[in-house]
Amino acid sequence: MLTQNLGYPRIGSQRELKKICENYWAGKTGYKNVLSVGKNIRLENWQIQKEAGIDLIPSNDFSFYDQVLDHSLMFGAIPKRYNPVMLKEGGTELDLYFAMARGYQKDGLDVVAMEMTKWFDTNYHYIVPEFYKDQRFKLFSTKIIDEFYEAKQAGIITKPVLIGPVSYLLLGKEKEDGFDRIDLISNLLPVYFDILKKLQDLNAEWIQFDEPFLVLDLTEKEQNALRDVYQQIRKAFPKLKIVLATYFEQLGANTALAASLPVNALHIDLVRAPQQLDEVIAQLPKNVILSLGVIDGRNIWKNDFEQSLAIIKKAKEKLGSNHIWIAPSCSLIHSPCDLRNEKNEEVLTPELKQWMAFAKQKIHEVMMLKNLSSDDPGVNYQYQLAENKYAHTNRKISTLIHNEVVKQRVSSLMPEHSKRESNFVIRRDKQHKLFSFPFFPTTTIGSFPQTTEVRSWRSQYKKGTITEQQYIDLVKEETAKAVKWQEDIDIDVLVHGEFERNDMVEYFGEQLDGFTFSQNGWVQSYGSRCVKPPIIYGDVSRPEAMTVQWSAYAQSLTTKRMKGMLTGPVTILQWSFVRNDQPRSETCTQIALAIRDEVCDLESAGIKIIQIDEPAIREGLPLRKQDWEYYLEWAIRAFRISQSGVQDDTQIHTHMCYSEFNDIIKNIADMDADVITIETSRSQMELLDVFADFKYPNEIGPGVYDIHSPRIPDKDEMITLLNKAKTVIPYHQLWVNPDCGLKTRGWDETKIALTEMVAAAKQMRENIMAPALV
Ligand code: GLN
Ligand code: ZN
Repeated sequence: MLTQNLGYPRIGSQRELKKICENYWAGKTGYKNVLSVGKNIRLENWQIQKEAGIDLIPSNDFSFYDQVLDHSLMFGAIPKRYNPVMLKEGGTELDLYFAMARGYQKDGLDVVAMEMTKWFDTNYHYIVPEFYKDQRFKLFSTKIIDEFYEAKQAGIITKPVLIGPVSYLLLGKEKEDGFDRIDLISNLLPVYFDILKKLQDLNAEWIQFDEPFLVLDLTEKEQNALRDVYQQIRKAFPKLKIVLATYFEQLGANTALAASLPVNALHIDLVRAPQQLDEVIAQLPKNVILSLGVIDGRNIWKNDFEQSLAIIKKAKEKLGSNHIWIAPSCSLIHSPCDLRNEKNEEVLTPELKQWMAFAKQKIHEVMMLKNLSSDDPGVNYQYQLAENKYAHTNRKISTLIHNEVVKQRVSSLMPEHSKRESNFVIRRDKQHKLFSFPFFPTTTIGSFPQTTEVRSWRSQYKKGTITEQQYIDLVKEETAKAVKWQEDIDIDVLVHGEFERNDMVEYFGEQLDGFTFSQNGWVQSYGSRCVKPPIIYGDVSRPEAMTVQWSAYAQSLTTKRMKGMLTGPVTILQWSFVRNDQPRSETCTQIALAIRDEVCDLESAGIKIIQIDEPAIREGLPLRKQDWEYYLEWAIRAFRISQSGVQDDTQIHTHMCYSEFNDIIKNIADMDADVITIETSRSQMELLDVFADFKYPNEIGPGVYDIHSPRIPDKDEMITLLNKAKTVIPYHQLWVNPDCGLKTRGWDETKIALTEMVAAAKQMRENIMAPALV
């Protein structure tokens, strides 16, 4: 029985990679320093895994920005627009690489970056390969070979990791019409051969091919491509040992296909999909090794050894111990680095910590499981098993986690708790009567610029250089300015600006029971950007109101309507590390109840318009369509629970930062928010498509300008967009707003853009020449 790892976090345990890259981009450090930091991280990672005793240690899992982009560079899949960057005198491969990742605006050049998108259902984002008709590939970057060699020099024979050719192509996009990217496989395969040959010459024994698309629905053509590719590789390299890695879901309908591929080992995710074990064992040929992904690569909880050992035992009985491996479920890039760097015992108390394992600890868990499942584990391991059992028993009964009142409340929920008192039409009429807004009412999504100054107050307050009262006064002053300014430019529904918030999830997590935080639990989100998700460890409840004081204060400054701002239950769940001892749906319902209480408290404080942001509802969708319905049912229910405690004339808004609604528009309508604001300015056509077919019943604010870009649109542009929207959505349903919060923008641009936006709305009103609603 061997042990393997599929990938190790590459940001460095102190985010060294982020720091050096950002310094390099700012021109503050040289190219050689970047390379040397990269090298140190790799060596340290290999060393950690070697010392732990892992048999198959990955290489080429390191990346300066993103592993998919590494492959594009490796295969010479470099869009033509980067030629001038490539040809620049003194330009390095690294500069070209960063130009592809981030764009290049220097030396008179202005080249846009490649597109970025989410890596399956994780919060990691990859750079989307761009494909052209008849595209040729060639070995351009030898990173994978260099890194194998580098490890070998350090005395470690690694297992190079490649994204398999079919998944690589499927991850990309056709950038022109008239071809199917999967047909590029015959052009691409020779480069894989080239790489494999070089690795083989250096005595590589095992190669890992990641084909995560095997857990999705595949077309006939894609299935054939997989069969064909691995047969060809096998034929060309009869001695090379291949491990085919799948993760994030079950193989399901692709089980027979995966089992039929001529590889030496197959890795499956038994954390996300333990139910696939029997089927995979039944179909796997005798000579193929099964790699059991039993340790959760995507969460921070300690493995339950008893449970894992049961899986291992079963596989061992059926396949024999020489035919199984033990591994994490997926690459550990989705886990923070090292629990031992968590030193703040007031926040992450010893009791909480004993339930957790970060990447480094997970590597040790792999080894412990291997030893525990041997025929005669020594006393030492028996002791570890006992310790593990103790931690889990302790977690099951801990009063830190279990709150009977919360459980009771969830189980006594009735259908009426997820329903507003009256239907939308009745509510709408009451709301219009109360607010008497004009047509095309204007509002914003919540946040105003989080300037360096605002952020410096927070950090001074955290450091203790200013008092809480001083901090609050500063934020109040900023809020007052923002309120006054919104009044001046005549926005209809004001916001307080969210200056007091660090992050839209963390802010609530910090005030809810059942949440804790790490100091250093960073996980790569994209490039140098890392996130530190809150940790939901126990039953969630709200000890006291979270936002009421700020909203009430802001409302007291104006006679206009102030909108309360909350983050919705699904988004809070989605952007946290979630407890794994109960279904996610249960945790989500608990959060929904906490938000519901906040909504009601806001209402009691006189806030009659409340926005519950749910930008993450869509990204929570399961990978396979067959699982969508179940997810949408509990997710939408959670949102409805959170909004349904209010009176008819209280207006609930929600916000989502995307416009890919086509496949879930009915469910979005089911959320039954009175007003929804969405992103559409970058993709107006997509919006039109959906609304042409589906009559969205409630009010809607299609974002009229893109806040993700520093570009300032003018009134006419926004009018054009609103007129477009008006062709598919009746104008009396329309709101006018930007497409997301403004916290990343500067005040100068924000002021111009919003002034233009209000002017656009006024023009629209004049154009329809209709009397205002009463
Ligand atoms: N209310 C939040 C803001 O304005 C919404 C952010 C988001 O949608 N991601 O910043
Ligand atoms: Zn948004």
